[in-house]
Amino acid sequence: MSYSNRVKDLYRNQLSEIQNAGIYKEERFIHSPQAADIEVEFPSGASIKKVINMCSNNYLGLSSHPDVLKAAHEGLEKRGYGMSSVRFICGTQDIHRELENKVTEFLGTEDTILFPSCMDANAGVFEAILTSEDIMISDRLVHASIIDGMRLCSAQHDTFKHSNMEHLEEKLQLHADKRIKLVITDGVFSMDGDLAKLDEMVQLCEKYDAMILVDDSHSSGFIGKTGRGTHEHFNVVGKIDIITTTFGKALGGASGGCVSGRKEIVQMCRQKARPYLFSNTISPVIVAGVLRVFDILSSSTERRDKLEKNAAWWRKGLTEAGFILKEGNSPIVPVMLFNAKLSQDFSKDLYNEGIYAIGFFFPVVTNGQARIRTQISAGHEIHHLEKALNAFIKVGKKYEILGLTKEEIIAKYGI
Ligand SMILES: *Cc1c(COP(=O)(O)O)cnc(C)c1O
Repeated sequence: MSYSNRVKDLYRNQLSEIQNAGIYKEERFIHSPQAADIEVEFPSGASIKKVINMCSNNYLGLSSHPDVLKAAHEGLEKRGYGMSSVRFICGTQDIHRELENKVTEFLGTEDTILFPSCMDANAGVFEAILTSEDIMISDRLVHASIIDGMRLCSAQHDTFKHSNMEHLEEKLQLHADKRIKLVITDGVFSMDGDLAKLDEMVQLCEKYDAMILVDDSHSSGFIGKTGRGTHEHFNVVGKIDIITTTFGKALGGASGGCVSGRKEIVQMCRQKARPYLFSNTISPVIVAGVLRVFDILSSSTERRDKLEKNAAWWRKGLTEAGFILKEGNSPIVPVMLFNAKLSQDFSKDLYNEGIYAIGFFFPVVTNGQARIRTQISAGHEIHHLEKALNAFIKVGKKYEILGLTKEEIIAKYGI
């Protein structure tokens, strides 16, 4: 053991650089279950405060739903707490396979393989199905876990400008000679809340003999008429070769993820995907909970319908109040402030008004694109949204930005 002062200083210097840049991340402790109303403690010592949660991925309000809790309890009783094994040794129960089948049916795919998380699904899928003769062509704004997964894969890599179909087509032509071409995108992009143009992408992939992978983590359960995801929204169910998604957001919010799609691709993952082969199986408690989530979603579209209404209400309210939003039709609603410090001050003032929403700035989003990202949930009632809207308006008036154009806000606060 040698943890020298030299090494210690190295880390300390890096940490103070992060702090000085104002991007040091601090956790807040939540003292209640995940819900629309939560109790939050800031580590800086302020007392616990009841606030309305506007920044969780609990889109369908299922994270603490009594039926899901009940199913998880039953799972615990009947199948135990943990499996102490990876899937292929002795970590597969009947309910794991049942969940895989249920996901397949829900997404309208051919087969599904569970992973400990969607991060793991993305870490495993590329290397399992591609070699150095192949090319991955990804949207420039894909999620970090896809970027890491591509790094772990020996295939060649290229990108296209965000949602730019002309550029994607150029890249498909450029790489026409590759053995396998895989186009890669998020279904809903988490920072802007916009949807990938899946209908156009599927057409291009058919024209140029390419496969397509969609990470639907911010869509599964609520985008599309019956909540199947972005492929349902764009009417391309059955045409997406690979869907990766998480159970850690709308689908109960515990953890776990999957790769769902073409049968042979799922089989290849079962043989070769390293997070599947070398990381522990999803706990039976969670499997039982997610199974119930799919029952709830398959029996009624009530929750995704409520979410859609809530999100529309929220967008309309903010727009009429004079805020600038990123356009989109997902429950991710970014309120644009452009200036980094303004986004932090705004967030603090909201918190004092009892509204918990985080300000994002560079490097999480492009420089000069600082914002408060709000996320709407089916767990929100109109009274939550009304209180939140009033707080936004009050703070917006304080900073005198209501009704201003982007240029006017930037002229006032800089970027
Ligand atoms: C959240 C997210 C993930 C990671 O999901 P986990 O199951 O929490 O690992 C992967 N991809 C996208 C697009 C995400 O938004």
